[in-house]
Amino acid sequence: MLIRRGGDRILIDCGEGTQRQLMRSTGLADLDVILITHLHADHVLGLPGLVKTFGLRDRDKPLVIAGPPALQQFWAAMRRTVIGTLPYDIEIVPVHHEVAWSGEDYRIEAVPTEHGIPSVGYALIEDDRPGRFDADRARELGVTDVREFGVLQRGGDVVTEAGETVRPADVLGEHRLGRKIVYTGDTAACSSVREAARDATLLVHEATFLQEDAERARQTHHSTALDAALTAAAANVRMLALTHVSTRYVPRTLEEEATAVFDTAFVARDFDRIDLPFPERGEPVHEPRGGRPRHESAEAATSER
Ligand SMILES: [Zn+2]
Ligand SMILES: [Zn+2]
Repeated sequence: MLIRRGGDRILIDCGEGTQRQLMRSTGLADLDVILITHLHADHVLGLPGLVKTFGLRDRDKPLVIAGPPALQQFWAAMRRTVIGTLPYDIEIVPVHHEVAWSGEDYRIEAVPTEHGIPSVGYALIEDDRPGRFDADRARELGVTDVREFGVLQRGGDVVTEAGETVRPADVLGEHRLGRKIVYTGDTAACSSVREAARDATLLVHEATFLQEDAERARQTHHSTALDAALTAAAANVRMLALTHVSTRYVPRTLEEEATAVFDTAFVARDFDRIDLPFPERGEPVHEPRGGRPRHESAEAATSER
């Protein structure tokens, strides 16, 4: 999954086909950070090729790669054998539950998960935003200079000509919540994910199995579509995307199982695009195949006819 937030580009997990699929959709963005959930092959095998490609393109911006501590051994071995020297620095950040990455007005926390080996999910959490500024109220209180509006919006007090002190709380509404994205990686249903996902804008939850194979899910430390839906409902998330679906199933059957509990659940596929507006500006929008390049869409439309 690629997150594009302002100018930041964040990749979560890097399986074998990741580089190719990025090139076919958004282009190979200059990533700022790669977040690895765990060291199973389908989540890390694309890493050596991707960092090597960045090197061939003369990248000089440092790259952060965060993941469970075993990432350090994996990286050391890859570096010695198949990667060699790179024209840019890579910082490996081992994580259990701490902040894996800090942006200007958001952070990404690692969330411990249950997958039989050290594993984490990730929660991107935006800072709360200041409340709406009430200019009419400010004028009523005697603040007339727009520069002083700015002082109040940034949290400072203003003294009016009449000698009255106006405080930000007098003219700013309630703090507005930021957005939150939670990505589970591979995991059995667990309380840490439920807690991290509380009121999330988007929960991307693995759903490897259907409930009829719950025993298999339990043995392999994976979730069923029902597990994911129950977590989404309990955590009061706004949108649930199911991923990591076993190829044995038709996606529709997982959607049917999940939507019985959480009615907007869907199975996410390569090239799907999800827009997440601020809560007061509307609901998240899922655009199936919305990230696919136009010429491919045209080809597909022709062949489908
Ligand atoms: Zn796994
Ligand atoms: Zn996996």
